[in-house]
Amino acid sequence: MSQPTPESYESGRGMDAHNEVMREIRARNDESYEPTEPTRVWLDEDNTPDGVRQSLTIILNTGGCRWARAGGCTMCGYVAESVEGGSVGHENLMTQIEHCLGHEAENAEKPAEIVKIYTSGSFLDEREIPAETRAAIAETFADRERIVVESLPDFVDRGKLADFLDRGLETDVAIGLETATDRVRHDAVNKYFDFADFENACAEARTAGAETGETGEPVAGVKAYLLMKPPFLAEPDAVADMKQSIRGCAAVEGCHTVSMNPCNVQRHTMVEELYHDGGFRPPWLWSICDVLESTADVDALVVSDPVGHGSDRGPHNCGECDDLVQRAIKDFDLRQDPSVFEEVSCACESTWEYVMREETAYNQPLVR
Ligand code: SF4
Ligand SMILES: [Zn+2]
Repeated sequence: MSQPTPESYESGRGMDAHNEVMREIRARNDESYEPTEPTRVWLDEDNTPDGVRQSLTIILNTGGCRWARAGGCTMCGYVAESVEGGSVGHENLMTQIEHCLGHEAENAEKPAEIVKIYTSGSFLDEREIPAETRAAIAETFADRERIVVESLPDFVDRGKLADFLDRGLETDVAIGLETATDRVRHDAVNKYFDFADFENACAEARTAGAETGETGEPVAGVKAYLLMKPPFLAEPDAVADMKQSIRGCAAVEGCHTVSMNPCNVQRHTMVEELYHDGGFRPPWLWSICDVLESTADVDALVVSDPVGHGSDRGPHNCGECDDLVQRAIKDFDLRQDPSVFEEVSCACESTWEYVMREETAYNQPLVR
């Protein structure tokens, strides 16, 4: 665990200390990955401002996130999946894309309308994805309807988005904002940027889209990714912060979708250390239902796709009702109708209510 020193407090609100611990934890990972293989690829369906569409999701294997190499976010294990040595060139990245196209051709009847590309970092960071590769990927998917690329807000730039927009692709930037509260983002997640940077990125995307949209309607926007229950927040505090964050994001012009990601326990992270020491429990699925139900009126799509639901390392309830509740959440994602939650119930709801009343940052987790 982190041993705070006077220096770490002096040199900036604990971020240096967080980074030092994260570097030490990540250094224990000795696996490496092939630069010609994507980290993961899968087919799914997604709710977009234009309705439900088939999607192809790609996690490209790149040199990994710059911030993660400095230490990085307390819950993020993606960097552990990146290629050793820190960089993947154009040819190898394009081989990964070919591999994904092959996977799609084998498993789907027709090409997906949406392509989503994540990189364990920032697709728009040219140290990860060179400009040449960005243009080639845009060309490869020019026949699709919409593309979503992941990026930290600093790299969102209208010139880069033009690669996609000029080819007629509606474009979304997926930004891992995690929370609208700067203090939680800095101190619990260890992410360096501010809400104001997110607002600027939304404005930049809107401007890029407005320049291209024929009807004057912007065709570029932002999808905010929020982290439900970062470490150190008790269940009721995490729920309150999430409700406020969703409203905060939905109020920013250009942010049309909010995706709430329940924190799961990834390998080689600070969250995993806390979890092993009995100091972290992933959120209850009931908390996710509660948030979705209470923010259903906001002017944005709000979705959640709990990863690893029902397992001890993922968001879970009692074990009996997890699949049922997960189905209700997926149903809400597609229909945005909060009445789906009235149809699920379980005896463990009263345990969750107890946690919501009694859990605090210093007694958590009250119930595993
Ligand atoms: S969450 Fe994003 S910014 Fe943070 S370490 Fe992981 S890839 Fe980097
Ligand atoms: Zn239950």
